[in-house]
Amino acid sequence: MIDKIHGVYYLICDICEDESEAIGFLEFDEAVEYKKDNGWQSERDWISDEWIDICPDCQEQ
Ligand SMILES: [Zn+2]
Repeated sequence: MIDKIHGVYYLICDICEDESEAIGFLEFDEAVEYKKDNGWQSERDWISDEWIDICPDCQEQ
């Protein structure tokens, strides 16, 4: 997910939800760019009908 906290967007993996290494972005689009460039995967969760973001580490498991 991309979470907005105090005006800053954070990219957080929906599997491990590791916030300790989350990077802050000033623009939503920057976070989306980062996802593409760093091998993150976006998948539709059909149960909650929301997009989930998966970090490279969790994709390997
Ligand atoms: Zn993860």
